[in-house]
This record gives sequence, C-alpha cells and structure tokens, in this order.
Amino acid sequence: MGIRGEIEGAQAEIRRRNLSRMLRDLHLSRPLSRSELAVRLRLDRSTVASLVSELAARGVVRERRRSGAIPQSPGRPSPVVELLPDGPGALAVDIATDWLGAAVVGLGGRIIASTRRDRSLCNTPPQKAVEELETLVRPMLAGLENGPRIVAIGVSVPGLVRSEDGHVHLAPALGWRDVEIGQLVREQFTELNAPVFVGNDADLATSAEYLRGSGRGTSDFICIWGEGGLGAGIVVDGRLLGGSAGYAGEVGHVTIDPNGDLCHCGARGCLESVVGEEALLRRSGRDPLGGTAAFEDLIAAADRGERVAIAALAESGRCLGIGISGLVNIFNPNRVALGGLYARVYPYVRAPILRELETRAIPAPRAMVDLVTVRLGGNALLLGAAELALAPTLDDPGALPLAEEPAPIETGDAPEGLDSEASRAPVLG
Ligand SMILES: [Zn+2]
Repeated sequence: MGIRGEIEGAQAEIRRRNLSRMLRDLHLSRPLSRSELAVRLRLDRSTVASLVSELAARGVVRERRRSGAIPQSPGRPSPVVELLPDGPGALAVDIATDWLGAAVVGLGGRIIASTRRDRSLCNTPPQKAVEELETLVRPMLAGLENGPRIVAIGVSVPGLVRSEDGHVHLAPALGWRDVEIGQLVREQFTELNAPVFVGNDADLATSAEYLRGSGRGTSDFICIWGEGGLGAGIVVDGRLLGGSAGYAGEVGHVTIDPNGDLCHCGARGCLESVVGEEALLRRSGRDPLGGTAAFEDLIAAADRGERVAIAALAESGRCLGIGISGLVNIFNPNRVALGGLYARVYPYVRAPILRELETRAIPAPRAMVDLVTVRLGGNALLLGAAELALAPTLDDPGALPLAEEPAPIETGDAPEGLDSEASRAPVLG
C-alpha cells in the first residue's frame, strides 16, 4: 500500500472512531445538540455535521429543531440530535435458572417490549429451552409496531461462556455442559437473520449496571450477582475483566471451606455452595430446590421476624462478606453492588458483610469502597445482553446499510465560536 493508501486508511479509521464515539455518547446520555456534541467529542462543527448526516443516512439518528428554545448565543439554536425510535435494536434473551425472559431493546437502553415466563429450567435440554423461548418471543415481536430494527440477538446464560464464540462450557445450575447455545438460538430465529452473542449473566448485569446503574461514575466496580448460582462481574479501570477466554469472574467458585459441601462445579466448599440460593434455602430449613417460591417464603418469614430465617440470612451474609473482603483486597474497587437475590436479602446481609469487611479487608481499600444494591433490578440482565449484541454496531456504525431515502440534513449551521478551539483538540480520545 502506498503513502496515499495509508493516509486514506488512517482517515477512514479516524472517521470510524468518531462515528462510534458520537453514537456511544448518544446511546449513553440523551439527545444532544450539534454544539454539545462538538464540545463533548472535541470535534469541529463541520465534522460533527458530517458525522450526524452519516448516522441519519444509516437510519440511526434524526435531528429536530428545539421548539421554543432561546438561543444562548447569536445565530440559530443548534438542532438536537436524537436516536431514531425505529433505529437499530437488539433482541435480548435471559435464560435463567428459574425463568425465561426476553426483550426488544433499542439504542439508548430503551426496553420497547419485554416478556417472561417463570419456571425452573434446571436440567432442561438446551434445544427444549430454545424452543420454549420461541413461543415466548413470537407474540412479543408480533405485537410490536414501529419498534427498532433487530440487528443482533444477545443471550444471557448463568454459566461459563467463551467470549470468542459464545460456547457455554458449563452452566451448572442448568445442568448444561459444552452447549452451542448461540447456534441453537440462531437456528430457532433464522428469519431475523441476526448474529447471536452470548454472555455470562453476572458479566452482562455488571456491564449494564456499570453503564446505566449502580456502577455509573466509578472506574473500578464489582457486581455480585446471585440467581440460582453466584457470579460476579469485575470492572477494572473501565473494562470488564474477561480473562484470556472470557471465563474470569467466577467468584462463586472460590473455595471458602475446604471440607465443605460438594459444589455443582465438582469442587468442595465453593462460595456458591455456601451462600448460593440452594445453600440459603437449606440453611433456613427449606427445600434447596424450592426455587422462587421457597425464596419468597424465606423473605416473608424474615420480614415477620422469624429467628431461623434471619439467622440463615445473617450466616449467608457473613460468608459473602468473607468473599467480598478478598475481592476488595485484590481489586480495590470504588463500589461493590449486590444484585439478583442478594439485592432482595440486602437488609439482612448488609451488617454481617460490613462486619467481615471490617476485620478481613485491608483498611485503605476498605475505606474507599461503597456497598450498594443494583439499580436496574431484573432488567440488568436484558440490558446487558442488549449491550453485548449492540456492541459491534456501536463500534462501527458505518457498517450499517444506508437507508433508502436519507432524511434531509442541514449541514451548515451558524457558527458559535467553538470551531477554532475544538479544531485544536485531538480527534481521538
Ligand atoms: Zn464450585
């Protein structure tokens, strides 16, 4: 490749990155005016106009004049750039131990439609789970009018998922081993003609919480997620820790009692086998496989003040506190959020967790960490699955097909004195 080719390649790469930065900004914040985009992205106004017009031509954004807006500076008010309601979106799927869920999620994290069926999926063959999923998803999709265009499918699974291809190595609570769940979902929904991305439930919940919930504003964030099993997502310096293949974050399988009960993973005394849902139910004298109904019964008993229930929850909190202390010592997070069933039992486990942190975590990192509950609730898994599915679109919006009739876009706008400053700023960042 000659010099000219290299320069063109570099320019194309800069444009791809700028398109991606602009779309991510709109995706994670709110409608923004061209002048706000210019300041936030540190780009000159003509570049912003050109990027906006490309996103509009690809059916992602539209512009509208602010009605009744009073110009802050001489000249016309800058039009507001907003995501199109029928722009790209994802079908998000949540295969959990105790339910099947699905949603259509647009850019901006908007849940357009959602559906869920509560039932135990323990030992359900993957093919059967996917067929049942279809009976849940079809009516939801049929009822959608003017929803987003589904460009990808994201699937949350409570197990170890290889990030490269979505291969489920092990989902102990479902009884799955070496399952090509992505392929099964793709085959079940061939007419959507959409790529399928699969992620670990705790990782997906963590990325949604980090972007839109309890992890916002932090750089180092840990989300402990319990639904059936126990997992965690670990964000280090703004990046979700994946490990070399995507299997990292299996906090539930850290040994906490070398002589403890056998865990689903085959080892003994894992944190999950001590504080997971089954252990919690067993400790409180309930059927360990009682699922959601037994868990709700346990909470109700604790709320009534029953000592056995409260003691069982406190003991789980103590063990969870031991696990969290280790995480604080290793990762020095700003914040640790409890999600899934741990968010439900938070009032009962908070004090025992803090007591363990007091004695087991190193004082300096302990003093820096907040203990909170997740903010997105059950939606965290679906939003995280959508985020995973939409990541390639957010990374390279220029790969979206051009809409047949691009909306007319005004490219020239009254200058507001930003250009000279903005054009000196770096275009990447
Ligand atoms: Zn284990």
